[in-house]
Amino acid sequence: MINDEFLIKLSQHIYYIKYPTNIGIIENPIKKELYLIETANDEESIKIIFDFLNKKFPNYKIKVAINTHSHADHCGGNDYLTKTTNCEIWTSKLESAMMEYPLIETNLIWGGTPIHDLKTKYFVAKSCKADKILEEGKTEIINLNENSFIKIEPISLKGHYIDQIGILITDTDEKISFFLGDAISGRNVIRKYWIQYLLDEQQTKDSLMKISSIKADFYVPAHGNLVTDIEGLVELNLIALLETENLILHILKTPKTTEQILKEVADVNGIKLRIAQYVLIGSTLHSYLTSLYEQEKITFNIEENIMKWQRIDN
Ligand SMILES: [Zn+2]
Repeated sequence: MINDEFLIKLSQHIYYIKYPTNIGIIENPIKKELYLIETANDEESIKIIFDFLNKKFPNYKIKVAINTHSHADHCGGNDYLTKTTNCEIWTSKLESAMMEYPLIETNLIWGGTPIHDLKTKYFVAKSCKADKILEEGKTEIINLNENSFIKIEPISLKGHYIDQIGILITDTDEKISFFLGDAISGRNVIRKYWIQYLLDEQQTKDSLMKISSIKADFYVPAHGNLVTDIEGLVELNLIALLETENLILHILKTPKTTEQILKEVADVNGIKLRIAQYVLIGSTLHSYLTSLYEQEKITFNIEENIMKWQRIDN
């Protein structure tokens, strides 16, 4: 259950609900419409949010649900919401493709058709179609009256996922809130899970630098607490990336297979791999290896049909 303590007001018309995946809310009091950013994990969790919103904003309707990316914990409630409220879905181009064909997600992390153990709601959201494609440079405006409007700017934040976007909102009171999806993790989340899932390490670093260059009053990671000053959090996220890079380089003093590297990375970080972590951290490790290879810090050899990675020592 959630209560008023979960609802945080950021500015005149912008709120968010503190939840395992934070949910952003834009209120249009003139038309009595709500815009959501992210829709929680699944039907069960979005129902809780939906009931709460109906109590807090009686007689409002949900007009739009915006998804920063297609991971099930961000768009898992889309199916229920669209069927219940007929709301529109907005997201970026490639994320919309992934949301329409959610099995691609498991194929991608597995590297082929996945075993059935992975075809769970944690990885596969119900399929849904986007009504509007968001892209950086194309601003959406919610007009409240003649001289007052709320500005919604999609900001490309690729890296964690293929076409992830952040949502930068300028309210009528000039307060700016930046909803960051999984481009950055909250301090408590980084402490708990040092290694965050990512698809492209270099893009993840670039997006972190991009976030630190964008001025906002409130920065809301999808997981973790909001911050008003982003520098420290960007730094912590970068340190986690670089520390994992260094750990891999340390492990690769001698040639190792990807499986051996995964075991050592998990052991050092005290992670007990079950199947979900095995594929998520394994897939993330592939992305790190690509990044280190492209930086010409490691190389590989295939000998006797075994692929092994090794550090390049200059
Ligand atoms: Zn994600």
